[in-house]
Amino acid sequence: MGDELKEGKAPIPPAENAAETKATGNLVPGQSAPLTKPDEMPAKKKYSLTSISMYLRCPYQYYRRYILGERRPPSASLTLGRSFSEALDENYKNKMQTGRDMKRALVKEYFDHIWARERHKTAFWKDENPEEIKDRGVKTLDLFHKEVCVKVKPTSVQKEFDVELKNVDYLITGKMDIETKAEIIDNKIASRSWPKGKELIDLQPVIYSLGHPQEKDTPFRFDIGVATKDPKIQQIPRLVELKEKIAFLNMLGHLVFEIEERVKLYREMMAAEGQGDGKVFIGRRDHYLCSWRYCGYAAECASEWGWHIPGKDDVEGI
Ligand code: SF4
Repeated sequence: MGDELKEGKAPIPPAENAAETKATGNLVPGQSAPLTKPDEMPAKKKYSLTSISMYLRCPYQYYRRYILGERRPPSASLTLGRSFSEALDENYKNKMQTGRDMKRALVKEYFDHIWARERHKTAFWKDENPEEIKDRGVKTLDLFHKEVCVKVKPTSVQKEFDVELKNVDYLITGKMDIETKAEIIDNKIASRSWPKGKELIDLQPVIYSLGHPQEKDTPFRFDIGVATKDPKIQQIPRLVELKEKIAFLNMLGHLVFEIEERVKLYREMMAAEGQGDGKVFIGRRDHYLCSWRYCGYAAECASEWGWHIPGKDDVEGI
C-alpha cells in the first residue's frame, strides 16, 4: 500500500499512464489496436490564443482567470477598444455584402451602442472621465472611417481558425480581425502613437499569422487609431516570415506542455493538502503591465506573494 493510502489520502493516478491505458485498452503484445472511426475519435483539447497570451504575459494572471475562473471588470481602455473594434467589424461585415462602407453616422451609432452596453461593467479610475474617453473614441473612429476603412476590402471579418500543434494533442484556436486578399489586418485604438519597432516585439502578428496558409510568409498590418486630442492614424506593416511561424508553433507546443504540467502539479498539491495557493504559477513582475492600474489581480497577487505592486495609490477611491 502506498504512503498516501496509509495516511488516508487518495492516490492520484498518473495522467500519462491513464492516457496510455485508454489508448491501448487490454491488448496483448502483438495484437493490433482496432481502427477508430473518425467520428469516434476523442475531441482534441483546445487552448485559445487569448489564454496563451495571458499565460505569456503573466502565469499568475492565467491561474486566477483560467484555473480559478475569476473574471475582472474590464478597464476603460479595454471597453474603448471593444467598442471601437466591434463598430469597425460591423462596418466591414456590411462592406463584404454591399461593397461599400456604412455611413459614418451608423458606425458611430454602433459604437455608442457597444459603449452603453459595456460602460456599466467597466472599472474606471478616479482620474478617468468616461465621457471624455468616449468622445476621443468617437473622434478617432470618425477619422479612421474616413481615412482607413475606405481603402480596405475585407474578405473575412473575425474569422476563427484552429491550429494543430505538433508533438502534443492540442488545438490552438484564434480569430483574425480582418483578412484582405493581400494581408491580415489588426484594428486598434491606442492612447498614444506606437514607437518605432513596437510591431516587431508585439506577438499579435505572429499569433494571427497562424490562421493564414502555414507554408508561406504572412503580410500583416496594424491599423491604429491614435486617440489623442487631435486623433491620428498609424498604419504599420509587418511581414511574418515562415521561419518565425514555425518557431512560434514549436514554442506553443512547449508552452501548452508547460501549462499542463503546472496544472497537474497544482491539482496534486490540492489533492494532497486540500488546498492550493497558486504558487506553481509565478507572476511576471517584469512585465510593463504589471501594476494596479493594468492588472485586475494585483490585490490577490500582492497578498499571496507579499509583493509590492506599483501604482496602488492611483486606484484608491475608484
Ligand atoms: S500584479 Fe503583476 S505579477 Fe501579479 S498577477 Fe498582475 S501582472 Fe502578474
